[in-house]
Amino acid sequence: MSITQERAERIARAHACSGCKEYTWRKVSVKPSSTALRESLLVVWSASMKCGICGNEQELGIDDDGDIVFEG
Ligand SMILES: [Zn+2]
Repeated sequence: MSITQERAERIARAHACSGCKEYTWRKVSVKPSSTALRESLLVVWSASMKCGICGNEQELGIDDDGDIVFEG
């Protein structure tokens, strides 16, 4: 069973920025991942985030256990 979009968003928000190590995200958008990601990495949700401190833009892939599978 997959985690909900709401939970995926909470996991994304609890992840530190790779630029400044802060947790102040200005914008977080979580959407279902692409079929390719789903099949190759078992990523269920893709999060796109923009840091409110340093402006870094980051992407996360979250699997159905709520673990972060990749960070880019
Ligand atoms: Zn930052």
